[in-house]
Amino acid sequence: MSFENLNLHPAIVKAVLAAGYTSPTPIQQQAIPELIAGHDIMASAQTGTGKTAAFMLPALHRLATPSTVRSRGPRILVLTPTRELALQVSDATSKYGKFLPRINVVSILGGMPYPLQNKLLSQTVDVLVATPGRLIDHIERGRIDFSRLEMLVLDEADRMLDMGFIQDVEHIASKTPAERQTLLFSATLDGAIEKIAARLLKTPKRIQVATQHARLDHIEQRMHYVDDLMHKNRLLDHLLRDATIKQAIVFTATKRDADSLADNLSSQGHKAAAMHGDMTQRERTRTLTGLRQGRLKILVATDVAARGIDIADITHVINFDLPKFAEDYVHRIGRTGRAGASGIAVSFASGKDAAHLKKIERFTGNRFEFHVIPGMEPRTKPRFGRSDDNKPGRRPSSTAHKTRRSWSDNPNPRSSSQENKGGRETGFGQPFNRENRKRSFSNNKFGNTDRFARPE
Ligand code: AMP
Repeated sequence: MSFENLNLHPAIVKAVLAAGYTSPTPIQQQAIPELIAGHDIMASAQTGTGKTAAFMLPALHRLATPSTVRSRGPRILVLTPTRELALQVSDATSKYGKFLPRINVVSILGGMPYPLQNKLLSQTVDVLVATPGRLIDHIERGRIDFSRLEMLVLDEADRMLDMGFIQDVEHIASKTPAERQTLLFSATLDGAIEKIAARLLKTPKRIQVATQHARLDHIEQRMHYVDDLMHKNRLLDHLLRDATIKQAIVFTATKRDADSLADNLSSQGHKAAAMHGDMTQRERTRTLTGLRQGRLKILVATDVAARGIDIADITHVINFDLPKFAEDYVHRIGRTGRAGASGIAVSFASGKDAAHLKKIERFTGNRFEFHVIPGMEPRTKPRFGRSDDNKPGRRPSSTAHKTRRSWSDNPNPRSSSQENKGGRETGFGQPFNRENRKRSFSNNKFGNTDRFARPE
């Protein structure tokens, strides 16, 4: 199937071909004809499947025909859980709509100044991309006229539900024309999402693309059993020295940990920065631009902040802490392996993570294989209640490094650390031994092993 077969306006086909897309992805093949036919859809499509174009191309197709309603209000409204995702949707819209005459795309996001938003909203708006909270503020102040709204898109509805935005979403939907077309995208279509869909969508077509399992095939997933925080730090230092990393995202459980770890990595000479929800929009945008432009190599992030990041050079994702929810694992590792590339996702798990690990395995349908880096083996054996782990004397599978590429292919990680002594102050990456243990980690904000025992 080609884009030409989808009956999209020629200016849109021209734009996707100019973007380098040769054929529509499965979600695009399924969703675009239904949407052009005017149906509502609910689609379980994860990040990285091309879902943004799946809804934005038919949305733009609508805009190619002038509205019959006299108003300056938006014709297309996209609601997203995070500011980053909203900005990406806006960028994609401009990219796909660049050969159509005068498509005005406006983003209304929390954390941005009101006067600028008021000005943007006073002009004619074609596509409005917004986070729910701020949009409601503008609606309450009477600044948005939805009389010509034709399409409402709920992007990452599951995440909006998790973040407590669903009431806001329903309130916004109630202000839009009942005859609108409504689209709901979600990683999973479970009971709670079904209920929302039943309230907001009209006899929707259901679309389900590649299972989680198939979608993750291009991402190599590795699990390391860790003893404690110190062990994690040593492994991380080793992993970040891999020359094949173009860019990496390291995920932590809390905002505070993201800051501490980013500071720590920066002080070790890594081009690293943190990104989390406590940062202002300006700071987050600056960090993301730094990453896009290659000035930053490592982003240390929390789940919410990193959702929707789409940067082709992210070759590695490291779960320094495992996520609380299994879906977040999929979202996290989906930051790598973008646009058909392959990626590597490495996770650290301790005995306390057994339940999390099981949930992730159930959700992805993938059973983790434990990797061991020679010289950095865990002192204790994994306690994950697996039959093969419970055999007396059984250590975590060390076959992984024999049969598979290790992260760095470096048989002696200590020598790589030792080669890189320049500029080290805290000894974050020094080989671990009893003598340097205290000196190395005593001043390290991130070296308090108690914190590891109580992930937030
Ligand atoms: P999304 O799932 O919308 O976040 O898209 C994931 C990535 O796939 C983005 O980098 C898009 O630019 C890219 N993409 C979307 N559609 C296509 C396509 N038909 N062919 C190749 N890449 C695509």
